[in-house]
Amino acid sequence: MNSLSIVPRSEPNSSVNADQRVAPHADLLKTRRLVVVDDDEAFRISLCDLLHSRGYPMPESCSGGRDLISLLMEGAPFDLVLLDLTMPDLGGLDVLRMLRQAKLEVAVVVVSGDRMMESAIGALRLGANDYVRKPYAPEMLLHTVETVLRRHDLEKSHRQMTAQLECSERMHRFLVNTSPDLIFTLDEAHNFSFVSDRVGQLIGCTADELAGLSFFSIIFEEDVERTRYLLDRVGKGECSTELRLVSREHSSYRHFDVKLIPVEFSDLHLSRAAGPHRGVYVVARDISDKKLADDHLAYLAYHDVLTGLPNRALFRDRVGLAMVQAKRSGMKAATMFVDLDRFKLANDTFGHQKGDELLKEVARRLQDSLRETDTLARIGGDEFTVLLPCIRSTEDAAHVAGKLVADMARPYLVSDNEVFLTASIGISIWPEDGDDIETLMRHADLAMYHVKSTGKNNFGFFSSTMGQASSRRLSFENELRHGFEDEQFELYYQPQVDAESQQVVGLEALVRWRHPAKGVVSPGHFIPVVEEIGLMPALTYWVLETACRDLRDWWERGFDVPRMSINVSPAVLDNGDFSRRLEGTLKKYAIPHENFEIEITENIFVGDRQKVSDCLLRISQKGIRIAIDDFGTQYSSLSYLRYLPVSTLKIDQSFVREIDRVDDSSPIVRAIIAIAAGLNLNVVAEGVETEVQAEFLRRLGCREMQGYLYGRPLPVDALERLLTRVSPRPVVEIEAGSAG
Ligand code: C2E
Ligand code: MG
Ligand code: MG
Repeated sequence: MNSLSIVPRSEPNSSVNADQRVAPHADLLKTRRLVVVDDDEAFRISLCDLLHSRGYPMPESCSGGRDLISLLMEGAPFDLVLLDLTMPDLGGLDVLRMLRQAKLEVAVVVVSGDRMMESAIGALRLGANDYVRKPYAPEMLLHTVETVLRRHDLEKSHRQMTAQLECSERMHRFLVNTSPDLIFTLDEAHNFSFVSDRVGQLIGCTADELAGLSFFSIIFEEDVERTRYLLDRVGKGECSTELRLVSREHSSYRHFDVKLIPVEFSDLHLSRAAGPHRGVYVVARDISDKKLADDHLAYLAYHDVLTGLPNRALFRDRVGLAMVQAKRSGMKAATMFVDLDRFKLANDTFGHQKGDELLKEVARRLQDSLRETDTLARIGGDEFTVLLPCIRSTEDAAHVAGKLVADMARPYLVSDNEVFLTASIGISIWPEDGDDIETLMRHADLAMYHVKSTGKNNFGFFSSTMGQASSRRLSFENELRHGFEDEQFELYYQPQVDAESQQVVGLEALVRWRHPAKGVVSPGHFIPVVEEIGLMPALTYWVLETACRDLRDWWERGFDVPRMSINVSPAVLDNGDFSRRLEGTLKKYAIPHENFEIEITENIFVGDRQKVSDCLLRISQKGIRIAIDDFGTQYSSLSYLRYLPVSTLKIDQSFVREIDRVDDSSPIVRAIIAIAAGLNLNVVAEGVETEVQAEFLRRLGCREMQGYLYGRPLPVDALERLLTRVSPRPVVEIEAGSAG
């Protein structure tokens, strides 16, 4: 490829007229160091005098070639040697040969009596700068010396300049070729006129292969038009863009940030007449890796990593688009909230890895039931959203949702186990249920919650009453939180009575909310919400503390309360701290462990079974009693009674309520009492309201009763009227970890 030099703008006069570089005449003479070499002493003296008289410093003189060579070897910096040819020790021609061999930059004028033409030619061939014949005319000799010196200077400075240029070119080439960027120049026809070596690494061809080829030969097809436009425009000023440059086989491309700069080149290889020509200087930076990283980030910003589905952000975009499209085509659009009903259980049971696989399978099934134009997104753990962009009526959405519900309900296979998951789907329709993305999605979410609360495994459409219900619910939550902070809760106690002796054998603490406007609110209304908003642990610890404090107070004042029970919900047992706090509080109020009972319901086994079992085991090992509340209503398998340390079963009031004759059959009540007897457990009947019920239970062997017949849940003062007074019970320090 042609070597092409860019006109160095900073040195416009570097091709200086060489004569200007030669020192002015007088100074020139004074700085010259000359040497006369001749075996004829008289000749030497007269020649030295002549030169000196002309203004040169007195020349050195040597009587033979050897002397001269020794001086030069020692580094004497002569500008000019006046050299005789015929000398006894070392002749002039030999001296010339040695000078040439040593590449010494010294000018030589041969001053010789030799009249043979061959000698003169021989001397000039060997590098002598001029030849003066003895006897010489002084003026002619002086003129020759001056001319030779001047020419010698010129040649020297030319040589220096050339060396400098070469060095600078090498430097520039080095810089260009080692640059991480691909650098090249294009001529006026947009063919390559120079390409840096980096091209090999970046697009897999050599600079020579590209020489003379069109720039378009390495542009990715789709970028050709844009490149053409840029090259047309580049005359007006530099421009940058991103281009894809293809490899030699056109099998792949890489991304480059390309800067095009218009330039004028002066090609040294072109004739002067050609003059400067215009072209483009191009620097292309490989940004493929950065691009890949950017693409990946962009993907992450809009997709869910686990399933590869669009995420919430992309889903919102699509909903926005769908609304515009639907408006234009006069159609409707549906958004759906899909929430898996029992996913947490499966995830806890099989672990997160299997849980993830399950989610992927769910995503696949949902996707399979949708059309390509629909969008399925994953927006949270087990939450998916669906967009049906163009539907004619709500029936279309109902049809799709019904299919999704049915598909979800087919069993999944996880670690060789069949797992049943169901989905609850809420649907909102544009434009009826909202005219903006936020509202549509919120309403689909509300509809989904409605489905959840009315039995799950189904779909349902949003209706405007749900919105009201949800804002009522929100304000209820806020009131509940404030109520807790403002100490609006209090404990009522309901006695548990021995049916034979009519003695109070225990109290169950039941929480009440004294609402500033609504009065006393019973737990059935707020306990589920307390659970949902995560207040349950705090409420339980408050109940524990208050019940223990009251019990201790009654004991100090001589009231007979053999046992205190509190209700503990599964959400609290899951939390590893409970048993420690329980023990700590009992210790604080010096309550022996056997005088305290916690009531748990059977649905605790739905959550993290292992954690709950561990916690209960710790509690029972400390001698604290455990009662199963509402026994028989929730869990069908009784096997847990065999390994869980339970001390009491409480027959649920729904069974007791059905007893209306003393000789009633009541198979469930009979069965529960039989189980308790078989496992040697205490049994308490709840909700005993009539003598008939009490009598029936007593006959079956159930002694402990709790119900309105014996006493309603009462606040502290009212309850005290029911309790028997005995002698005060002093504080007895309990050992930590004792069985009470
Ligand atoms: P539970 O633990 O089964 O409590 C017994 C419920 O039955 C109480 O309702 C009580 O007032 C009621 N009851 C007692 N005897 C009779 C009767 O003869 N007839 C009728 N019809 N009802 C009777 P309450 O106080 O409304 O509590 C309802 C539920 O709220 C409790 O059921 C318990 O599960 C929960 N709860 C109450 N306080 C707490 C608490 O501090 N923590 C937790 N986690 N749950 C609590
Ligand atoms: Mg209870
Ligand atoms: Mg109960």
